[in-house]
Formats: sequence, structure tokens, C-alpha cells
Amino acid sequence: MIVNMSDSATEQEIAHVIDRIREAGFQPHVTRGTEKTIVAAVGSGGRRHEIEALRVAPGVEDVVSIAQPFKLVSRQVKPERSVVQVGGVKIGGNGVVVIAGPCSVESREQLFSTAHAVKKAGASLLRGGAYKPRTSPYDFQGLGIEALKILREAREETGLPVVTEVMSTEDVDLICEHADMLQVGARNMQNFALLRRLAMIDKPVLLKRGPSATVKEWLLAAEYLLSGGNHKVVLCERGIKTFETETRNTMDLAAVALARELSHLPVVADPSHGTGKQSLIAAMSRAAVAVGADGLIIEVHPCPERALSDGPQSLDFAGFEKVMKGLSAPLPEVAHA
Ligand code: PEP
Ligand code: MN
Repeated sequence: MIVNMSDSATEQEIAHVIDRIREAGFQPHVTRGTEKTIVAAVGSGGRRHEIEALRVAPGVEDVVSIAQPFKLVSRQVKPERSVVQVGGVKIGGNGVVVIAGPCSVESREQLFSTAHAVKKAGASLLRGGAYKPRTSPYDFQGLGIEALKILREAREETGLPVVTEVMSTEDVDLICEHADMLQVGARNMQNFALLRRLAMIDKPVLLKRGPSATVKEWLLAAEYLLSGGNHKVVLCERGIKTFETETRNTMDLAAVALARELSHLPVVADPSHGTGKQSLIAAMSRAAVAVGADGLIIEVHPCPERALSDGPQSLDFAGFEKVMKGLSAPLPEVAHA
């Protein structure tokens, strides 16, 4: 439930509401907006009627229930958009943030050359996989700790904050020592033990949507992070499974717009996994920005044909530069009769 405080509520009145929420067996979560303060009562097993009774407490405007199963993630609890800071880069503020890099870190040279190229073309964050979730156990699984060290060095050399995927709770501490943001891959979106562990870290999380997850399930996965204490969450749409076989996945741009409508969290789009095709990245990047995406994550490799993972959807340096330039081209004008 949500207790909306009135514009003129005093700190004392807010503190009283917080105390009463605790006494009623819920956890209080305070959102201080530019105009109003909202105090959410979340959790299970509390006494709802005691929260409803707060309608008549001083400084309270009204008490409403939260319509969605996700609470802290919802815009009802926090109407203003969240900005998530990764190193010095703000995701969800003004401007589209581009995260780029190879699917897998393959060597020092491969990552460094890519880091310099994507930085020059305008990317703000470097992404490279150290631990790879591969469909087949016979495929390249990533360089692990060696890749983490290379990523850290690339950050030192280029100044670009680095993002890398965490697949297991065992690796969380090690990855936190090397990376600025931890990616939860699509296959792990509902790995609840991992989400609970990541809720306790002081690093931002990039939460990919599961290939078969509904928007509600995706936002509930984010709720695990926020309710456990980590509010630095960025959502990522990366395509879902449909009957279409010409593209690797079907990039659900309505979900980007919907996630931004339902949640205050920033949303980025991944046209590389979303399509699986180099040739579609420019168009889908522009489309994602047009529907409101706060950022993009794009796979780039010095020589896609030699990539150890996801070559067909990776851009070379020139291709990436072209995509970046295309992002600022205006949309065609509407023809009038
Ligand atoms: C990746 O980002 O390389 C990756 C494995 O993504 P996803 O989890 O979306 O498949
Ligand atoms: Mn990939």
C-alpha cells in the first residue's frame, strides 16, 4: 500500500507514518519527489487495516493500494524516473547511453582495440563477457578471471566504465572487484538466488529480460533487487522467443515503452541479441531510441567473422561508427495531404 503525504507534510508527520508502517508489520520505503513524499508499505503478513487507518493521520493525503504485483519498481511508488550511475556515466538522465563491446573478451588486444574504437565512436560504457552462458557446453565459455583483469585494464586505459555478466553467486565478489556494472543474462533473469545476492551489493545491475519472460515477470525479477536493497537497476530488452525463425529473437519494442510506463527504472535495448543480425542493428537501434529507450547495448568485434561468440550479430568498427552516426539522423517528416 502507498501512503501519499500532502505537500505540506512535516518531517515529524512523515516519521510517524514510517513508524506506524513498521508497527503494522510492513517495511516502509520512502520516495521523496520534488513535490511530494510517498511512503510505501511493502512486504507480506502485515495488517493492512492499520495502514488504511493512516488516512486520518496528520499530513496524510490519501492511502491507496499498489495496483501491480511489483511494488518498489513501479511508478506508483516512485513517479519520477530513476537515474542509475555507472562510474561517471548516468543512465536514465538526458541522452541515450551506448554500451558497446565484444560478446566475449577473447584477448587483451581484441578488447583494447574494441574499447578504443567504441569510445571514439561515442560509446560511454564498455561491455565484454568473461563468463559466457552458452547453449552448448562445447562452445567457448569465456576466459573467466583473465578476462576480468583485461576489462579492468581497459577501463584504466580508456576511462570507460565496464560491464560484464555474472552467472553464479560464487563469482559475485570477484566480479565486483573488477567491474562497474554486473549484467544478469537473459537465462538467469529468474535465478532468484543470484538476484538475492546481487540485491546486497553496492554496484549497479543490468537486468536482461528472459527470452520467454513476460514484462510482469521481468519487473518482478527487478523487484527482488530493489526489495533486497539494491536500487541501482537498469532493465534490458534483448528479444523474446516467438515463432519467427528469420531473426534470432523478436525484439519487443512495445516492452521497452511498457516497462518505462510501468516502472521508473531506466530501460536499455539490445538490438544485437534482439535480432541476431548485423544488418538490422542500425534500424532497430533507431527504433528503440524512438520508443524511449534510455540506452543501447551493441556487440562490436574487430573481426566479426572470427569472433568466438555471436559473430553474426556483431558489428566491426566501421559498422558501429555508422550506427552511431545514424542515431542522430532525424525521422522522416509526416507527409501532409
Ligand atoms: C550477451 O549479452 O552476450 C548475452 C549472453 O546476452 P543474453 O543474456 O541476452 O542472451
Ligand atoms: Mn552475446
